[in-house]
Amino acid sequence: MDTKTIIETAEEKLIHTYNRYQIVLDRGDGVRLYDTDGKEYLDFGAGIAVFALGYNNREYNDALKAQIDKLIHTSNYFYNEPSVLAAKAVTAASGMDRVFFTNSGTEAVEGAIKLAKKYAYLKDGSTDHEIIAMEHSFHGRSMGALAVTGNRHYQEAFGPMIPGIKFAKYNNLDSVKELVSDKTCAIIFETVQGEGGVYPAEPEFIEGVRKLCDERGILLILDEIQCGMGRTGSMFAYQQYGVKPDIVTVAKALGCGVPVGAFLASEDVAKALVPGDHGTTYGGNPLACAAAVKVFELFDKLGVLENVRRTGAYLTERLEELVNKYDIVKERRGVGLIQGIELTVSPKEVIAKALEKGLILFSAGTNVIRFVPPLVITESDVDEMIEKLGEALSEVV
Ligand SMILES: *Cc1c(COP(=O)(O)O)cnc(C)c1O
Repeated sequence: MDTKTIIETAEEKLIHTYNRYQIVLDRGDGVRLYDTDGKEYLDFGAGIAVFALGYNNREYNDALKAQIDKLIHTSNYFYNEPSVLAAKAVTAASGMDRVFFTNSGTEAVEGAIKLAKKYAYLKDGSTDHEIIAMEHSFHGRSMGALAVTGNRHYQEAFGPMIPGIKFAKYNNLDSVKELVSDKTCAIIFETVQGEGGVYPAEPEFIEGVRKLCDERGILLILDEIQCGMGRTGSMFAYQQYGVKPDIVTVAKALGCGVPVGAFLASEDVAKALVPGDHGTTYGGNPLACAAAVKVFELFDKLGVLENVRRTGAYLTERLEELVNKYDIVKERRGVGLIQGIELTVSPKEVIAKALEKGLILFSAGTNVIRFVPPLVITESDVDEMIEKLGEALSEVV
């Protein structure tokens, strides 16, 4: 199909849940993508924080091909080696004891909520437990994950939401304390809010919530679907605060493109789920888990964390220059390779202009341009991005 036909057919046949750019992506290599007309794009979106290793990594591709030829799917009534290797890798990296593999981030959140509810149920036998979530959070689009997503627009048409969810203000410990009751079974938030506009948790907030949870017997669920897997410079963002959650959700970069997510828990919490409580047909299949195993291996081999810390510091520096140079750039936020600049105007036009110049960027919140590139970018990729973004900003001012 030619480019025009692909776009026209997509608009005819796909349910219109996205306003797409008029571009058909065809292939990727490293930190670059190419469309069907051969135009090159520097990718600072990584398929929304997914392709941490960049595109077309030989070793990753070969591992997948080998697994395809061996076994793609079985069922969870049998063991398979890739899922065990992936479980070992992700529990070691997170410091958690047990894992349940899912097919997406949303399902990881869904499972985390169910686990928290079951744990509380086993403790007091009641079935009306409450969860505290945060305003401007994003946890996914299924009914459970949507119910803890603090975005009225996403929820409105789909009510009623599951009951017992209360929303506190992110980075405001008092607002959380006000909502705690004897019914509260869990507090859930992103260690770095992504979709909401790139807001890292303040140390006093995350430490304070942990303490509150310990005092009141509440589970702390950290959603690291976007900020986890090395993006902040440590394998998981909470590790930089010295805080450990009871349950953590992971996805996006876990499979680096192959759909796989997970929720992990400490031993004491994990054992609340027993056969019959939760399940999935695809989750933990050998192909998805072979991808995750290779991802952890390549993180080590390529020194990904070290690269994130180095290029993340450089990105910080270069973004601060934009704050100083352009009146419409209000501030920079974020850490490592999850960063954002808040504009005084909608970022739509800037992002569209950047795209014309061959630079892919995503927005977050209302006025934020988000930077979530592959974790293997170099300082010269950052320079190229800043140059193109600078041109785009100049044209909009
Ligand atoms: C993307 C995201 C999700 C949802 O993950 P999907 O794979 O799209 O279902 C949940 N939480 C956070 C923090 C995310 O960034």
